[in-house]
Amino acid sequence: MLNVLCPFCSSDSTQVIDTRPIPDGVRRRRECIACGERFTTYERAEEPRIDVIKRDGRRERFDRQKLLRGLARAAGGRPVSADQLEAVAAWIAEQARQGGGEAQAERIGDLAERGLARVDPVSAIQFASVYRNLADLDQLEAVVRRFKDDPLPGEDQLAIEPPVPSGSKSSIGRSREISSNRRRGHVPQP
Ligand SMILES: [Zn+2]
Repeated sequence: MLNVLCPFCSSDSTQVIDTRPIPDGVRRRRECIACGERFTTYERAEEPRIDVIKRDGRRERFDRQKLLRGLARAAGGRPVSADQLEAVAAWIAEQARQGGGEAQAERIGDLAERGLARVDPVSAIQFASVYRNLADLDQLEAVVRRFKDDPLPGEDQLAIEPPVPSGSKSSIGRSREISSNRRRGHVPQP
């Protein structure tokens, strides 16, 4: 087996100090024997190709790392762990895959908001405010209402440990109603 190189000093003398299952693979905590730095690696089976269709019709390949960077930016400073973000990204990829290997960029943005909302509503709002260019409180309120009133199928299957004890659990409604003024900003793939 190939040794994992230390991202800090490029030494190949690294060891695994913790291994943990994540929703779609394995997470390993590693330590470099040469420089002592610690880092985390994620292992998962290679993803089938998913095309993201942008608003102007262009296609680009679904890029999980890019998505993760967008999620991490939105969750910056919030009590959201890298594992939780990985779980959100895995859920989004799974939802997109179920859509037949292609997904509108808007839908990816929508899924990202909903996935984040399950982990930390504030992160979801931060995400939405960037990707929807929310101009005022009314728009913000509309987004928040949609999180509650318009759950996506499969949302229940997003297996994420809540960051806070379940006293403050947000209840996601089951209303069939779909808000008529779905005013969508441009949602580039995060
Ligand atoms: Zn090192």
